[in-house]
Amino acid sequence: MPESRAAKMIRESFQSGRPLTYIHSPEEQRVVLVLEEVSRGSADSPPLPLWTWSITEGMRRAGSSAEPGAETARGALDFIVACQTPAIFHLKDFHEPLRESSEVRRRLRDVYESCRDQRKFVVITSPVRSLPEEIERSVLFLELRPPDLVELVEFLRDETRRNSLGEAPEAVLQQVARALQGLTLDEARYALRRALAGGRQLGHDSLPAVLEEKRLLVNRSGVIEFVDSGTDLNDVGGLDGLKKWLLERRKLFEMRESISAEIVPKGLLMMGIPGCGKSLCVKAIASCFQLPLYRVDMTEIFSGRHGKAEGVFVQACRMMEDMAPAVLWFDEIEMGLKTTETGGEQGRIFGFFLTWMQEKTRGLFVAATANRIESLPAEMIRKGRFDEVFFVDLPLEDEMIEIFRIHLLRRKVDISNFNLPQMTQFTVGWTGAEIEQCVISAITRARLADREVTESD
Ligand code: ATP
Repeated sequence: MPESRAAKMIRESFQSGRPLTYIHSPEEQRVVLVLEEVSRGSADSPPLPLWTWSITEGMRRAGSSAEPGAETARGALDFIVACQTPAIFHLKDFHEPLRESSEVRRRLRDVYESCRDQRKFVVITSPVRSLPEEIERSVLFLELRPPDLVELVEFLRDETRRNSLGEAPEAVLQQVARALQGLTLDEARYALRRALAGGRQLGHDSLPAVLEEKRLLVNRSGVIEFVDSGTDLNDVGGLDGLKKWLLERRKLFEMRESISAEIVPKGLLMMGIPGCGKSLCVKAIASCFQLPLYRVDMTEIFSGRHGKAEGVFVQACRMMEDMAPAVLWFDEIEMGLKTTETGGEQGRIFGFFLTWMQEKTRGLFVAATANRIESLPAEMIRKGRFDEVFFVDLPLEDEMIEIFRIHLLRRKVDISNFNLPQMTQFTVGWTGAEIEQCVISAITRARLADREVTESD
């Protein structure tokens, strides 16, 4: 079975020889599962017994009674010092005794010495970050990121087994787990309950309920919105260069884990005249790549309603990394990203964005759109930041015909008697949005007169 990202992180910290680790996480249940995974061992590390201590349950191994004399925090540390064999010791909520007692702090330093090179590992877990200064340097501090695919698949397998739902096919487990990415295990549990309400089985049709939970979570952030795309490339008239490029990149994006990072598509920047289909294209990209679409609202980030813009922006980018694979849409990117030369907060945000674009996870494809090209910093447009920069211009004659056709057909108008090329003589200089409005006006006019729409409308 593959190893989860969290288990790997903890195992590597043990392998580096660090006897003390502090895991900051509100998900204690999950930490227990991850430590159990580590204790089972892996190809290059043998199994280790797992001891767990809490103020209410004392020190014990799974299925055994508490060890006498190790009920208190001090007693637990004495037990670890006295233990002669390799093991993992999980100390739950140990930040409390550490904060309150100088004797416990002192004893923890003895534990550090007694565990060194003995393959005895102490893991303190707590929902708060609270480390006394004198032991901070001896402790490796870890922050648990949300569960990855491996953990989520295991979680789904466990939950379906526990609820006697029978084993779901591997493909379903993978698909649902992918949809759950970015959620904590607790949130994933709520999402799963929603999907299985009324005794339903876990299947491909569980996805809408799971995605709904995710939509609520993301929308709660106030600056990121889950967008229901439902648009495909055929809904976009013209822009053939962009479509061709996307279809080629889709292939590379799907191969992202097996090819060199350099050629994994990072994203594109689309700029140009409002109403020519930039937003439409972003939605079509998400459908084309078969990925969920999230929109970052730059105006909201700079509104001050969610705290300092810099922190909110960084947090939004980090949160999205946990949601990968996904398409991330920065709408009106020119609103927030000003050149680094201006300094200040906007300059710093821009600097962060450029580095983040280079380092972000392979599973995120960034689609940035901008209306006011003149406000975009030159560094942004320079090759290398995005894979490609597209200028979305007014449609040419052929493209206008295609846009007319798309909007008429979408509204079920029979166009067999229409001379579409002739119509374009009236629409020189129009945007796609204006052509769509023209179609809507014509249909409205015909409906008011209680007849079918004609070319003259
Ligand atoms: P803005 O920056 O103002 O949002 P935009 O460039 O993102 O403008 P869209 O919002 O994508 O433009 O376009 C508005 C609507 O116009 C679209 O929802 C679509 O219905 C129609 N439209 C625009 N361009 C095209 C096109 N090339 N093909 C089909 N429809 C189009």
